[in-house]
Amino acid sequence: MKAVLINYGWGRTVSKRHKLINRKWPPLDLLNCTALLEKEGISIEVVDLNVKKYSDEFINHKIGDSDIAFITSSPIDRWQCPYPVFDEFILFVNALKQKNKIYIMGAHASLYPHKIFKQTGVRGIIKGQPESAVLKICKNETASEIIECPNVDLNAFPPPAYEKIDLNDYYYELMGKRFALLETSRGCPFHCLFCFKAMYGDKVKKKSLQKIKDDIDYIVGRLKAKNIYFIDLEFTLDKETAAKISEYIIEKGYKFNWCCQTRVDAVDYELFCLMHRAGCKLIHYGIESGSQRVLDMIQKRIDIKDITEAINMTKKAGIETAGFFMFGFPGETEKEMNETISYATKLNLDYASFHPVIAYPETGFIKNKCDYPDEFIAGVVRTAYLKFYLKPAYMLSRLFKPRQALNQLRLFRGLIG
Ligand code: SF4
Repeated sequence: MKAVLINYGWGRTVSKRHKLINRKWPPLDLLNCTALLEKEGISIEVVDLNVKKYSDEFINHKIGDSDIAFITSSPIDRWQCPYPVFDEFILFVNALKQKNKIYIMGAHASLYPHKIFKQTGVRGIIKGQPESAVLKICKNETASEIIECPNVDLNAFPPPAYEKIDLNDYYYELMGKRFALLETSRGCPFHCLFCFKAMYGDKVKKKSLQKIKDDIDYIVGRLKAKNIYFIDLEFTLDKETAAKISEYIIEKGYKFNWCCQTRVDAVDYELFCLMHRAGCKLIHYGIESGSQRVLDMIQKRIDIKDITEAINMTKKAGIETAGFFMFGFPGETEKEMNETISYATKLNLDYASFHPVIAYPETGFIKNKCDYPDEFIAGVVRTAYLKFYLKPAYMLSRLFKPRQALNQLRLFRGLIG
């Protein structure tokens, strides 16, 4: 049996001005699927349209040459923040031939399985985490049109099949090239109102330490990845595992840079020093707002003073920081948005990323609307970027840090499209 796994790649259709992030990240979930299917003797080809803009003719040829095709509209790094409009994706699928071979997966398919099934006439739709479902389909264990397999066992996955793609094609502007994603857990036990977690299911799943070590050995030891993002939703919630991973990297003498994402209340100075020694260069924090009232309203369950302390502690441990902020929560006032901008510029962050709130279905916000029009929020986002990155003290600080200045340039190229 032969299968082709396709990452749609929004760069095909989304204009550069909307492409706020200038990055090429590998489709980790497709590589998990590949590894699982190859173990069953199925021959796999991965086509990543995020890396190369292959023609429809080429894609049709690949599908024609395979027994079955899986297309994702949003690989794992977009599970939480899929592009909100997906008409272009539907047009793309509808331009393809042999739809009776095609299954669609990803966040859009998970949110609107019946609608997308009807609009495209494909063979089936996978809801939620795709790996077990893909395996089931290829083993002819289901004839359903809508397939959902939420009980994914991360420990049963072979290492993601990174050998099927060229790591040199992937980079993250804040880290560098030969860039790979790895996960040590999947899911998050918190319930922030705005957070879209439909792809993750309710339960947090963890990899065993041995499985994590095997993945690192494979991706760093064998395939020589140079930059890795541990894409767990909150990497240091399990401090003991984070420490053991760091100790393992040090013990093996692996030299690679890595980053992760965590909550401001899951920090620990000694752990961060250890992570820094193991090559951790950057931690992303979801800060969301500079207003305590808004943080409480969105049930983020963090305190403003935790944020300041976490950022300072991270920097003191020698690790760079990136903060994510959002504007346009239902009930948020203009004054509170300005408080966020002012707070972001005062925090000792290396990078900041500002976004309009998107009221995804299945979040606590779908029934409530922001009190301001989209254009207003877009203006606030623009102002925030300008105030943060063009602050004289900030610009001056970059002059003495060539690596960060270079990252800044790359980031700005993405921001201004
Ligand atoms: S802590 Fe982070 S991942 Fe978890 S629900 Fe909140 S925003 Fe989402």
